Amino acid sequence: MLPWLLSPLVLLPALGEAAYGRSCEAAPLRVAVDVGHSWSSFGATSATGRREHDFNERFAQELLDLAKPVRTLSLFRFDDPGARLGLRDRPFIAANRNAEVFLSIHHDSVNAKYMDSWYHNGRKLQFSDVFRGFSLFIFGGPTHFQQSFKLAMEIGENLTSRGLKPTLHHAEPIPGESRPLINKDLGIYTAPFAVLRYATVPAVLFEVGVIANREEERDLEDQAYRSKAEDAILRSLEEYCRMG
Ligand SMILES: [Zn+2]
Repeated sequence: MLPWLLSPLVLLPALGEAAYGRSCEAAPLRVAVDVGHSWSSFGATSATGRREHDFNERFAQELLDLAKPVRTLSLFRFDDPGARLGLRDRPFIAANRNAEVFLSIHHDSVNAKYMDSWYHNGRKLQFSDVFRGFSLFIFGGPTHFQQSFKLAMEIGENLTSRGLKPTLHHAEPIPGESRPLINKDLGIYTAPFAVLRYATVPAVLFEVGVIANREEERDLEDQAYRSKAEDAILRSLEEYCRMG
């Protein structure tokens, strides 16, 4: 009989917790936390003129700090402060460090047509209050699609159960957006972003919120607000690990 025709019963371990999935206490899930962008190429600009990379850096570090006492997870971060590496190098570095999951942290903006201007601390700046919320991206190709989608679903469910809401603006059929929305309730899209396309393990890119939105930028300055999203990520990784 061919191996994939074996009855599932034959493949089940005899007894113990392993029958319900992986023992994550014995083998914590290794997660590469990618800090989006770099000091020199900093990504989006917030409504108050701050750099996306700074938001990414803070969120990633808080995530690692919160994960330290979690015995089922082993998070490590890596970044590229001087932008010396290409985007495709990041997944390879993660793979070399035996990552089992690649999680890229970003903060979001909107299309230029939604931007308006205002004065903040004497500076004329761009903002848009039209959209707010999180987004989750996975690569639409066959490599690791099911596992990436499973993790993105876990994250989306944990975020929404804590009162956070997705934004759907990346699906608008305009240049620069037009992202296929594969779960609108959980804000999950597919996109061929380099860090996802070259990932050698299941990978999710998380846009934590829209920093061009004045209200959402204020919310993201609140540690209690950020910790809801950070807690959602950690619980999702734990659940993903247990599912094996
Ligand atoms: Zn970004």
